[in-house]
Amino acid sequence: MTKIAFIGVGNMGGGMAANQVKAGAEVTAFDLSEVACARASAAGCGVARSVAEAVAGADVVITMLPAGQHVRSVYADHVLLNARADALLIDCSTIDVDSAKAVAELAAAADFRFADAPVSGGIMAADAGTLAFMVGCEEADFPLIEAVLDPMARVIIRAGAAGAGQAAKICNNMLLGITMLGTCEAFALAEKLGLDAECFFEIASKSSGQNWSLTSYCPWPGPVPAAPSNRDYQGGFLTNLMLKDLKLAQEAAARSGAATPLGAQAGALYALFAGLGHGDRDFSAVLQMLRGRLDALDDGASA
Ligand code: NAD
Repeated sequence: MTKIAFIGVGNMGGGMAANQVKAGAEVTAFDLSEVACARASAAGCGVARSVAEAVAGADVVITMLPAGQHVRSVYADHVLLNARADALLIDCSTIDVDSAKAVAELAAAADFRFADAPVSGGIMAADAGTLAFMVGCEEADFPLIEAVLDPMARVIIRAGAAGAGQAAKICNNMLLGITMLGTCEAFALAEKLGLDAECFFEIASKSSGQNWSLTSYCPWPGPVPAAPSNRDYQGGFLTNLMLKDLKLAQEAAARSGAATPLGAQAGALYALFAGLGHGDRDFSAVLQMLRGRLDALDDGASA
């Protein structure tokens, strides 16, 4: 039985760890939050009192933490000092490319195999075991990494060497942030022009405006029943998390010299929406700001 140490069992990591248990792994979880630890325990994980205790004896260490500083310190101060010499280390958090590369270098210097493997898909996909993983690692390590990630995944793609998983993730999410805003603007204009929203959806979803934000995650309530727009934009992918990813994309663009003016504009619009008090809503709720109907959020009516 594979022994997995799972560090960070919050909204995403909790479901991911539970899927490893279901697949037959022996999972030991550690999280600073007692609530997260209790949830992991209820899902069949053992609970450790420290990172050191969790990783001792583990074949695989998986981390799912908030941001780059957490990942840097958990690896430098705990994992690399206490993991078994042949343990496979996989960080699934969304963090900046530089932190991912720095941790990969530290791990390589200590002779560990390490991968950055951020995910696409939110909490529902984490619970269902249908995440998309984008992996940065040595080519030779990929088959083993793929086998470990499989119980949590719908698709697993190697993007390249260390840091490439994080690079792919921020490029994908910048694209998502932009296509969602474009979709919202189109609905706002369609409304002003007197078009019926359902009719516009039907036309655009079968025309060249078709995109994932429209047909799988429609910001206008109704056409896509599973979308957060039908639940007053609760849950889903929070505006604050989209903002985090767009900031990472802009930092990477500034450092690499890439021109990303739409990514910058998207970041500014989500920051405005978050600043108006909606950072904890799904990012598709930005529709209501663009159509001048923030009141639709305040009174709980979604359109
Ligand atoms: P979360 O805040 O629910 O979970 C993070 C957990 O890490 C928390 O339970 C926290 O207590 C724990 N933690 C922080 N520092 C720690 C430490 N030093 N040791 C042990 N535990 C520690 O966040 P989340 O929504 O699960 O997101 C985790 C990562 O996944 C983030 O990088 C996020 O950007 C990314 N992500 C989230 C989503 C989403 O929809 N929520 C989707 C894709 C990617």
